Amino acid sequence: MLLTEARFFGVGDVRLVESPVVEAGPDQVALEPLAVGVCGTDSHIVAGGFPAAPGVVLGHEVCGRITFVGDAVDGLSVGDLVTVEPHDYCTRCTYCRLGQEHLCDSKRGYGVKLDGGMASRMVVPGRIAYRLPVGTVPWIGALTEPLACCLHGMDQLDPRSGLPILIYGAGPAGAMMVALAAARGLAPIVVVDPRPDRREVALRMGADFVFAPDDPGISEPTEGLGFPHVIDAVGSGRILESAISMASRGGRILVFGVAHPSDEARIRPNEIFARELTLVGAVINPYTHHRATRLLGPLGLDRLRPAFYGLDQLDDALKAQQTGTADKVFITPHGLAAALGVA
Ligand SMILES: [Zn+2]
Ligand SMILES: [Zn+2]
Repeated sequence: MLLTEARFFGVGDVRLVESPVVEAGPDQVALEPLAVGVCGTDSHIVAGGFPAAPGVVLGHEVCGRITFVGDAVDGLSVGDLVTVEPHDYCTRCTYCRLGQEHLCDSKRGYGVKLDGGMASRMVVPGRIAYRLPVGTVPWIGALTEPLACCLHGMDQLDPRSGLPILIYGAGPAGAMMVALAAARGLAPIVVVDPRPDRREVALRMGADFVFAPDDPGISEPTEGLGFPHVIDAVGSGRILESAISMASRGGRILVFGVAHPSDEARIRPNEIFARELTLVGAVINPYTHHRATRLLGPLGLDRLRPAFYGLDQLDDALKAQQTGTADKVFITPHGLAAALGVA
């Protein structure tokens, strides 16, 4: 039997290839990926803007069904629906030894440096396969990874309930940030996005007010005080400048979106000082993957509108991720019914 895999070979060069089955080791599990999220990182990899290993199988937002469990793996069984925490850490650098593995010097991501889930079969260490709550729909399960990143961002922002929040960007991450903000009792939730369809998803996920970026009324819901919490879920210098200007005194600003490495913002140190602002970053999902599996249901992520593509439609899926109107795009290596959990 051969595996079908979507491998990245170089800029603009992703191909479906057939490979021999690799046996799983004693500390590993094999799974059939049922739904794999397509995200901005995948598009950046294919466009050459994010370094990935040539020949790697793409896909880091994985939900799958376990088909094999190695002898040394405890707590997992064949048939379990799992999500993968898609990182490997060196365990030896200073950051790893400080419990900050996500800042590891030699961190390697599945779907980036190690083979990911856009394949008919995936083999991973058992310790990074997390069992999902009974009844989880596979495409919702594939949202665990991006939700875990949002959860880390929210932890970094550390907002106070009962106060307003401003979120720039209502792509998949921004939309999940809206749901998390609502669950944490932030109010009102104000979202800025240039796209009407994304302003609509923000409302669907619990935003109280939505605005286009050039709308002069953005701070009106705070009676002109500005926002004690601001999230940049887009990633750009210009948005960081806006975020700082929209923050209230004592405001906390989370830089969450992935800006281009060369992008810059003009910041006046006096403003950070005099208005006592706090700027925080958040990268990936340290120790939040487990918590994210518990939140998939309560957050009502089934309000997102998905689009599904087969493994052989990756080009179309990447296009849809960049320009389509679905809230989130998924690859379905074992067919649509399996991704919907009705197979
Ligand atoms: Zn992603
Ligand atoms: Zn390390």
